[in-house]
Amino acid sequence: MTVKTILYVEDNEVNRRIVQDLLRRTSYRLIEAPDGEAGLEMARRERPDLILMDIQLPKISGIEATRTLRREPATAAIPIIAITSFALAGDEQKAKEAGATAYLAKPYSPRDLLEMIRKLVPEGGGAA
Ligand code: MN
Repeated sequence: MTVKTILYVEDNEVNRRIVQDLLRRTSYRLIEAPDGEAGLEMARRERPDLILMDIQLPKISGIEATRTLRREPATAAIPIIAITSFALAGDEQKAKEAGATAYLAKPYSPRDLLEMIRKLVPEGGGAA
């Protein structure tokens, strides 16, 4: 059984806790980074199977981090779900242009996020 690793780049602790709870009963392994700079470092080091990228981040924005990951061969193919802010018009367009695979506007339902994750990166597991 292959464990799939998800990197969540998010500065808001409450949001991180929600995703921790969401993934606790799945087989996904969750790793986290609190800002764009740490997120880039962790993506390069861990090569996660999927990245959840908040857009409003300290140090390096989610847009810039996404652009950088897409430029680097080692991370270029990793699916990225951009977590955009519903209140900030233009975020989705910017995320798309930066190379995000999909996006979800805050506030989102955790169930929708899990569905999106499962679509992009099916949970590992042997055949039944
Ligand atoms: Mn944020």
